[in-house]
Amino acid sequence: MARPHRNYINGEWIEAPDTVANINPSDTKDSIGLYAQADESQANDAVAAAKAAFPSWRDAGIQARSDLLRQIGETILARCDELGRLLSREEGKTLAEGIGEVVRAGQIFLYFAGEALRNSGDVIESVRPGLDADARRQPLGVVGLIAPWNFPAAIPAWKAAPALAFGNTVVLKPAELVPASAVALAEIIEEAGAPAGVFNLVCGAGSVVGEALLKSPDVDAVSFTGSVATGRRVASQAAAGMKKFQLEMGGKNPLVVLNDADLDIAVDCAVQGAFFSTGQRCTASSRLIVEKGVHDAFVDRVIERLKSLKVGHALGPGTDIGPVVNQSQLDTVQGYIGIGRKEGAELAFGGDVLERETPGFFMAPALFVGARNQMRVSREEIFGPVATVLKAEDYDDALRLANDTEFGLSSGICTSSLKYAHHFKRNAEAGMVMVNLPTAGVDYHVPFGGVKGSSYGAREQGAFAREFYTSVKTSYLRAP
Ligand code: NAD
Repeated sequence: MARPHRNYINGEWIEAPDTVANINPSDTKDSIGLYAQADESQANDAVAAAKAAFPSWRDAGIQARSDLLRQIGETILARCDELGRLLSREEGKTLAEGIGEVVRAGQIFLYFAGEALRNSGDVIESVRPGLDADARRQPLGVVGLIAPWNFPAAIPAWKAAPALAFGNTVVLKPAELVPASAVALAEIIEEAGAPAGVFNLVCGAGSVVGEALLKSPDVDAVSFTGSVATGRRVASQAAAGMKKFQLEMGGKNPLVVLNDADLDIAVDCAVQGAFFSTGQRCTASSRLIVEKGVHDAFVDRVIERLKSLKVGHALGPGTDIGPVVNQSQLDTVQGYIGIGRKEGAELAFGGDVLERETPGFFMAPALFVGARNQMRVSREEIFGPVATVLKAEDYDDALRLANDTEFGLSSGICTSSLKYAHHFKRNAEAGMVMVNLPTAGVDYHVPFGGVKGSSYGAREQGAFAREFYTSVKTSYLRAP
């Protein structure tokens, strides 16, 4: 039997007190390996290592940090096929999606290799003659990164790369379901020559490792992506410990389709946004808000497309939609199929659990029609291949429905009208607005995040990531 995978702490691979099997959701007979389950003391060891490594990493200089990130990014890109396959095997997105995500992770490291060199500040003219004032960016210290399972490569990358670029040291806690991609990342960071303690990986339960990071007085900041329920907990613990924190959480993202939309584009956007990656994206288009003149034609065309999609093993040829990530998530999603029907929505397509050659968590993409926005299937994040169609009277009604949600991550509109596109861009209550594009699918160098219940704190990614991973130090100088 293969040796269990270990945690990476202070430049060494350390056995954990416990392990857990990493099971392929496309084939539950396929175990990817045993992965570490740290206890609190191991998490604290990682924090201590990161704390000890911080002063020399802070002072290592921007060239050294840039070189490390470039090396990491190039290795990820060179190994993208193999790493993409591993990702798809443990998470269940299709191979094309897995490889695409790994490429994105590599590009993120390359991008932040550049950003490390662009850490400029301001020189500010003092109101007092003879004084110099400047404001410069400095690292925060030890940053705890808590990641979800649905982007096992990209999310650790978009947190770790800026953290390291700006001189912080890192403890990464990946989601329990996807440790393999995180271990691969730690191996690449080690091979790239990161000094001991600069990057630490602690796999384990959120209630143990995540809590330890939040409790530790030596963790200066926490970047969290995950569910709203956990995010609330992270916020209260981080605030109690006076840590800087940012939260990226769920969504119930609307895609508005107006009468004047190009229907080919609208159907593509809806199917891509709602069902690809098995609908397990925070930016998934889970509410399709369709103006009444085009409603029936749109629904017919979406159903036609759904019929043509192949649900199956993530690594299988021609698979469009892989499995749901595990049994408990499949149960949750199936529960919502029942809830939607009970609430009076009509299940116009799919929703069944599917048998395939391998035992896995497969289900047919599901489309509810005749729904109201007050129904639970229209309000709660389902996080699976389920979309709800809401009929709108006109543009104003569609905008009202789009904004009638506690979330505000991504909001889309399909229209050929400049007037409505422009109005929607300005008035959609969301951190990201998409015109004639799916609500999911973003660039790696552009700020990412939401408003309302979807996000809290500074934006992630792009040049805006610096807001979170640095603080501003103001200095005054008077020459004697
Ligand atoms: P989750 O909240 O269950 O877990 C997220 C992480 O938090 C995991 O690493 C988990 O171990 C950890 N955790 C759990 N309990 C903890 C605790 N008490 N203290 C500290 N950490 C703890 O979320 P998930 O199921 O892994 O991910 C799915 C969710 O993530 C969805 O709601 C999705 O919308 C959201 N998500 C958001 C974004 C975004 O950028 N907005 C991106 C991807 C996923």
